[in-house]
Amino acid sequence: MVDAKAVKERVAKKNSNSRTRNNSGNSPHKHCRICGVDINIKSESRVCNDQDCNKKLEKQEKNDRMMRIMFFIFAFAIAAPILLQLMGYGK
Ligand SMILES: [Zn+2]
Repeated sequence: MVDAKAVKERVAKKNSNSRTRNNSGNSPHKHCRICGVDINIKSESRVCNDQDCNKKLEKQEKNDRMMRIMFFIFAFAIAAPILLQLMGYGK
């Protein structure tokens, strides 16, 4: 007679083992930032060779740059009055 509980535990152990092995044995590889397809780790670009992906990344990077600029302006707008006050201005 088979002990179902023991079998279940053994299976669970096996599953967790294979999962940790997969995580630790993560071979270096890159994914296209747009479509997520595997690309060569040695390739400079972060996208695959698809023209559509290249265009989309270009747009995304432009957006990212804008967001960064906006963030700096925003941070400055908040920090400037505080800094001025700390330096003794605005009193
Ligand atoms: Zn792609």
